[in-house]
Amino acid sequence: MLDILTHPAVSGLLVMTIVGALAYKLHFVDISGLISAFVVGFTIWYTGGVASFIIILFFFLSAGLATKLKYKEKAKQNLAQEGKGKRSWKNVFGSGIIPMFFSIGMYITSLSVEIAAAGWPFLMFGGYIGAVATTSADTLASEIGVFSKSKPRLITNLRRKVPRGTIGAVSLLGEGVALFAGLFIGILAFIFALLAPGLVPAVSTQEQLIILVPLSVLTALIGCNLDSLFGAVLQNRFVCEICGAVTDKDFHCNYETKYVGGFKRFTNMHVNLGSSGMGATLGIVLGAGLFVWILGGLFFWIAASSSS
Ligand SMILES: [Zn+2]
Repeated sequence: MLDILTHPAVSGLLVMTIVGALAYKLHFVDISGLISAFVVGFTIWYTGGVASFIIILFFFLSAGLATKLKYKEKAKQNLAQEGKGKRSWKNVFGSGIIPMFFSIGMYITSLSVEIAAAGWPFLMFGGYIGAVATTSADTLASEIGVFSKSKPRLITNLRRKVPRGTIGAVSLLGEGVALFAGLFIGILAFIFALLAPGLVPAVSTQEQLIILVPLSVLTALIGCNLDSLFGAVLQNRFVCEICGAVTDKDFHCNYETKYVGGFKRFTNMHVNLGSSGMGATLGIVLGAGLFVWILGGLFFWIAASSSS
């Protein structure tokens, strides 16, 4: 009996049913979001193991709570997620599909002894952490950053102050939240790998263990800002003719908004997919121990953007 219950397929179904029921009851997801979260969650539980699942569960629950945080106040200022804050399949796949692929990658690369010995599962785990850290940082920074006391600035022109909720707007509070999200995920992964290494088979050496926290923090910070940058440059945006806010919403201040730029079919979901892919790529590069390259690139990026 216990054998059946501890089989990952059975335990995964049980856990997903409980988490799914809870998430639905708390209005974190609508039906389409529930079904897609079930698919993503179960696949990660089955292929990536308990630790990987708990890491993405942290994202899912904290994003749900942050969205609900002062929801009425956000709704009044047109800063809230649509659909009463319930996430649909677009949100779930936008943030979950890339981690899911890396989780499958972890599983496949661990099947062959040679490929596993070459360290591939850890690179996949680096991609996984990178994607989840980016999405968590981005979602939490957007949902909490709007409470920033000072007006946010535009990422493509940091001297320009813009209304809250503007696409590509960044604030110090948001950056702090992003940092914290990366730190939390990194520490979570580190503690699992340290205390229950059986749950994180992808981490097999001391060096890999030490990399986890900086990898998560850096990908969260860089990935989250790349998301703002992609949003500001590529995403279709509309201007509210009442208050002047630039948003991705069709309606603002109870009036229809006007299209002002970006690629028409490029929505927030595409931006999230792109940045979580970039976060995963960064995670792999960092997982391969190439910190110097990332830090060097970051230095030149900041130097170039502050001089222009
Ligand atoms: Zn408006």
